[in-house]
Amino acid sequence: MRVAVIGGGVIGVSTAYYLAEAGHEVMVVERYGNVAQEASFGNVDLMGPNSTLRQWTVPGLPYRALSMLFRQESPVAFSARFEPAMWSWIRRWISECRLQRFKENQQRLKILADYSAQQMAQLIQTHEMDFQQHKAAMVMFRTAKDLQLARLTMQLLGESGTNHELLDQEAARQMEPALSTEVDFHSGLYLPDDQAGNSPLFVRQMKILCQNLGVEFNFNNHVQSIRNEQNKVELQIDGRSVVVDALVIAAGSETAKLMHGLGTHLPLYPVKVYSASAAVQEYEMAPKVSLFDDTYQVSITRLGKRIRIAGCAEMGSSSVNLHQKAVNTLVKVADDWFPNAANYRHANFWCGTAGMLPEGIPLLGATKHPNIFINAGHGAGAWALAAGSGKLLADIISQREPEINMQGLTLARYDTKH
Ligand SMILES: Cc1cc2nc3c(=O)[nH]c(=O)nc-3n(C[C@H](O)[C@H](O)[C@H](O)COP(=O)(O)OP(=O)(O)OC[C@H]3O[C@@H](n4cnc5c(N)ncnc54)[C@H](O)[C@@H]3O)c2cc1C
Repeated sequence: MRVAVIGGGVIGVSTAYYLAEAGHEVMVVERYGNVAQEASFGNVDLMGPNSTLRQWTVPGLPYRALSMLFRQESPVAFSARFEPAMWSWIRRWISECRLQRFKENQQRLKILADYSAQQMAQLIQTHEMDFQQHKAAMVMFRTAKDLQLARLTMQLLGESGTNHELLDQEAARQMEPALSTEVDFHSGLYLPDDQAGNSPLFVRQMKILCQNLGVEFNFNNHVQSIRNEQNKVELQIDGRSVVVDALVIAAGSETAKLMHGLGTHLPLYPVKVYSASAAVQEYEMAPKVSLFDDTYQVSITRLGKRIRIAGCAEMGSSSVNLHQKAVNTLVKVADDWFPNAANYRHANFWCGTAGMLPEGIPLLGATKHPNIFINAGHGAGAWALAAGSGKLLADIISQREPEINMQGLTLARYDTKH
């Protein structure tokens, strides 16, 4: 089958790889000049299955995030443009953070994340991939109250047999000797098997693997509209028409717009997210373990000669301008934990848009149009879910039974007609 994939992010490229491996003739259509130019570029770079446990849908998180809203530094920022779609999304998100929903969502996510980790391990082994990956992460709790909020997540880690250890301040400092002696904190949750790596580098390496399998990349090609006709799909790309047998929409935050054109409304909201890359100045003072500040929802990861700091969600903004509060937050968090490792004020700051669903669980598989499929909405754990999601999509399109239970992962969770 000739299959088009819209989107050259980690999700689209992973899907293209598995489709080509399954024997399809694949083309990727990407509006920018290379792969990993949008959300997949600014990634925190956490790729282990537990990175999905740092999703936004956690009981108590909305209250904490909103209570910090008017501070100089905060995990969330709002633009002046308050729009109804944003409030409707926030209402649904708060509802998904209820205890029962949280547990259900986490169980579904865990099945996908474990499956994805297997696929990723196989990919790395088969192709001897090296994208600066390294093991171990630590979630830092500044106060006892922050730890309390994470108890549920820790309970789930225990139930799923995930290696983890709660460390007091002294033990956490032994695990990460570069932690600032000035910073006061309550504890750290050590995850020895969690992993981090260079996400854009991974996507670029996947592009080469795809090309070796014959995948055609069409860069600087913007899909304007999609039409489904008699077992074919027609794409309008910058004024020309391309007809394929099947289509996968993996367009990140733009997926909602494309699906809307096909008559399906998704609660996928574009959230602006930030990252900063700073050159390491003092190697002794730089992090060895990837660190996640639970209060500010910001991660700090060492990638070779650079330190990557990422987090802060800005709602209601479609501009490419940097929000000062987000910049302040990234600098503050990095300065608090590793003040002498780099000059964070001279970092390269970046912002981009990630498509977030209120329940934080991706949408995979069929749409109401027979030849159109979706792979989007992976939220804060996309990289960790990419290989598994790509493989599942390729299996579904190839009419093979998916290797995991797809319940709750498809469009059927919104309404029976998709
Ligand atoms: C600051 C930050 C931190 C994050 N941290 C982590 C983390 O630690 N671990 C993790 O697993 N995930 C993390 N995520 C989430 C993850 O990066 C994203 O969810 C993921 O990259 C989404 O991948 P994607 O391929 O769906 O979207 P994208 O990377 O956004 O790719 C979508 C692509 O589709 C293209 N496109 C859109 N519309 C069209 C069109 N009409 N025509 C042609 N092309 C189109 C876009 O140009 C884009 O390149 C983080 C996200 C951010 C930004």
